[in-house]
Amino acid sequence: MKMERILPFAKNLLDKAIRPGDVVVDATVGNGHDTAFLAELVGETGKVYGFDVQEEAIAATGKRLAEHHLLERVTLFHEGHEQLAAKIPTHDHGKITGAIFNLGYLPGSDKMIVTRPETTIAAIEQLLEMMAPEGIIVLVIYHGHDQGAVERDSLLRYCQQVDQKTAHVLQYQFINQQNNPPFIIAIEKR
Ligand code: SAM
Repeated sequence: MKMERILPFAKNLLDKAIRPGDVVVDATVGNGHDTAFLAELVGETGKVYGFDVQEEAIAATGKRLAEHHLLERVTLFHEGHEQLAAKIPTHDHGKITGAIFNLGYLPGSDKMIVTRPETTIAAIEQLLEMMAPEGIIVLVIYHGHDQGAVERDSLLRYCQQVDQKTAHVLQYQFINQQNNPPFIIAIEKR
């Protein structure tokens, strides 16, 4: 297939937005795959702030980062991403150029612990205040599970009403595939 698949598309958006030395956010670290990707993008002089509500996820991410010698450029918070503005030091507010939310539940873990639209939206609103102009938030939306469909609908409603003077909002989705594959909403601050 020549058209870009969902996860490579998400990574390419972040790659475009983020430069070495930047400050970025992984709002749902899970097993740390995206955290490691972001840590590579920001390089030795950059900073990644990572959030997750599960101790298990923070531990797995820490381990992955240590194995790849990336731990020093990452600060992990065992907190919900709705605490973003409170937890990220104020000297980094205004500097964030990229953020990713990989929504839903952690594969292989408790499927009852899922991201929720109220807290996801609270975090997006905080990020829109705290990002640098042209900073990009990427939401990867998994809507094949019950709560996922609820979160999808809330996020679409919220994102469609973001003032176009505040941000450009994109939806990238294959619309004829079975089994509700994930899709992307990307928000670029103006
Ligand atoms: N990107 C991750 C990876 O590379 O492995 C996968 C993330 S997984 C789909 C979603 C994660 O969001 C879970 O680890 C879950 O614990 C976490 N989560 C749920 N609610 C959260 C919240 N309010 N704040 C931060 N993380 C949350």
